[in-house]
Amino acid sequence: MLTGQGSEDVAVAAMKVGASDYVIKDTISAVGLHRAINNAVDKTKLQQKFDSQQEEQELFLRTLLHDARAPLRHISTFSELLDADVKAGDHSNIVEYCSDLKIETKRIQGLLDTLAAYAFSESDVTFEPICMADVLQSVTANLSLRIAERQAVVRHDSLPSVRGHGPQLIQLLQNLVGNGIKYCDADQPVIEITASASDDNRHHVFKVQDNGIGIPTDRLAYVFQPFKRLWSQDVYEGTGLGLAICQKIVKRHGGRIWCESQTGQGSEFFFTLEDADIAEDSKLLVS
Ligand code: ADP
Repeated sequence: MLTGQGSEDVAVAAMKVGASDYVIKDTISAVGLHRAINNAVDKTKLQQKFDSQQEEQELFLRTLLHDARAPLRHISTFSELLDADVKAGDHSNIVEYCSDLKIETKRIQGLLDTLAAYAFSESDVTFEPICMADVLQSVTANLSLRIAERQAVVRHDSLPSVRGHGPQLIQLLQNLVGNGIKYCDADQPVIEITASASDDNRHHVFKVQDNGIGIPTDRLAYVFQPFKRLWSQDVYEGTGLGLAICQKIVKRHGGRIWCESQTGQGSEFFFTLEDADIAEDSKLLVS
């Protein structure tokens, strides 16, 4: 706030209703004004970060409470049944109940792992040249069981090197390829990963295409929001965090992610990453 009517009372009143600083015209200087503006911008940015973190934490707690409840209820039911059967000397269902207990425990474990990946994914990491063909190799190794189960085909072009953080890029591609296999009702899921140069020639545009169930056109932005899903757990299991994690990772790498799809027509997920060599060149120019 800038005023010629300075008094301490006015300053206090202004701060109370949201002014972040108070500059009196008589004592104004370029340096002072600069400092006041910079302070205000920094303060607002911090406040925004704090607000969005709080919102995220709230969402987290709500999901945890909601999604953990069902498996916990099942665990409680199965252990009661187990208890009753053992007391009655009936051992016929023990194996089945134990297997159900294991499945439900695994569901909670999976939920906690995904929540942790989203909440604590590192932000202060060093970027380096990363070969995306190597990233894809790790992804197919990590998904080998699921790929074998569905007899999925994962095809790719020659993939370039980008500037990034290896483990996060593996997570990014793994979530997209994993979804391509999961959300597919064809006999054989086919996932194709290709790359092309972006218009500015500094980035690569990667495309992960599948032959799956597709996404309604009006839901394409919705699915990137945390915890937003189009199907119930009984149809396709998940937490609704996979694409939100992808978005977080791509944003952190200074790129963009989006999807093109229609119900029943497969999906194409695109993301951009900076070319490794160009990034190195501009670092040299700057230094
Ligand atoms: P999750 O798979 O755990 O539900 P995601 O954040 O990865 O969470 O995806 C959000 C939603 O977007 C999914 O629940 C699904 O409805 C939809 N979706 C994601 N990927 C695909 C895909 N390749 N094909 C069809 N639908 C998809």
